Amino acid sequence: MPAPSDPGRPLAAITNALVGPDGRLVDIALRDGVITAIRDAGGEAPEDGQLDAGGLVVLPGLVDAHVHLDKAHILDRLPGDIDGLPAAIQATSAIKDTFTADDVTARSERVLGALVRRGVTTVRAHAEVEPGAGLVSVETHLALRERWADVVDLEIVAFAQEGILRDRRTGELMDEAMRLGCDVVGICPYADVDGHAAIEDGFARAARWSVPLDVHLDFSDDPRVHLTDDVAHLTAALGFQGRVALGHMTSLGAMAPADAQRRIEALAAAEVGVLALPATDLYLSGRGVDRAWPRGLTRVLELIDAGVPVALATNNHGNGFTPTTTPDPLRMAWLTMLMTHAPAGRWPDLADAVTGMARRALGRPPGGIAPGKTADLVVLDTQIPSDAVLAAPATIGVVRRGRWTAYSTGTA
Ligand SMILES: [Zn+2]
Repeated sequence: MPAPSDPGRPLAAITNALVGPDGRLVDIALRDGVITAIRDAGGEAPEDGQLDAGGLVVLPGLVDAHVHLDKAHILDRLPGDIDGLPAAIQATSAIKDTFTADDVTARSERVLGALVRRGVTTVRAHAEVEPGAGLVSVETHLALRERWADVVDLEIVAFAQEGILRDRRTGELMDEAMRLGCDVVGICPYADVDGHAAIEDGFARAARWSVPLDVHLDFSDDPRVHLTDDVAHLTAALGFQGRVALGHMTSLGAMAPADAQRRIEALAAAEVGVLALPATDLYLSGRGVDRAWPRGLTRVLELIDAGVPVALATNNHGNGFTPTTTPDPLRMAWLTMLMTHAPAGRWPDLADAVTGMARRALGRPPGGIAPGKTADLVVLDTQIPSDAVLAAPATIGVVRRGRWTAYSTGTA
């Protein structure tokens, strides 16, 4: 399929698009950035302003629901022997004084560009606030949000990676970050002096700013190390349903099935979203054993079955938490298929976890390919619907609000 001769021009239609798990061949009519009609494909030659998808799979724009742009691509500054989560946090903290605005911008745009070329149109990124780095990351993200608005929705979490309670100045910086325009309060209880108190502080702060709460929660292979009950309880008690997202949640994967199921039902009742981070969870979990290493993933399929919206997100790229760089939600779905022993027939759930369900996990409307929805779409290099997850095929092109925005001939 050729690239349009005039990239960025509004498209009137995408013809011969293969959509949905059953592979319906359709023409998608667009106007003013919105899908206006879906019809069975007529097979006519494309007219001016129309794009012929040639029978290739078309998905809604992808979602990266949890990514750290500001600490991507820093391996050259870190020691080579980082072994596990505490060491990764410490080593990253030690070099944060090298994070200048130009530096953070360049590394962030490297990841954002790769995400956009892959077909990502919605990103939730964590910008760190802590006394060592001040608000450099927040200010950089705010500028990026504006500069990249034509191609991606960038939602900014003001994130206290090293704990909100360790240093009084962190809370002050967090409030300043919210004043400047961040979208979400982000906390990390497992890195804090008191996890319970950190969660209470996070809810109170999110309530004060009337924004959602995003929690890096329960990143452990030990089933006893978790604060899931606190979060489920407070979400319901404080009326935060639909506004709380929990990253990692690997302790839930380590629990006995009955213990986990009870908590999964509580999370479903509290309308909490879960953000699984397969690359990082696989890389950092299972340390300290010398065989049969645990995979360290939360219970993705059980959560979905219970009605908890789950997103599969990329998290980290080229740092002590995840040395690989895979700015590709579809590759996270592919990896999750393997890590969860999912039957192949579950692929639509995993595709949903990087598109519509991922948006719901962030408390957003699901979007999708239907009349009235925003025309954010990605064309994949396959004519087999299940390949979207089972093969994670290359992206051919990306449509953002009805305009062709990116063209790629390779994987991200
Ligand atoms: Zn993270």
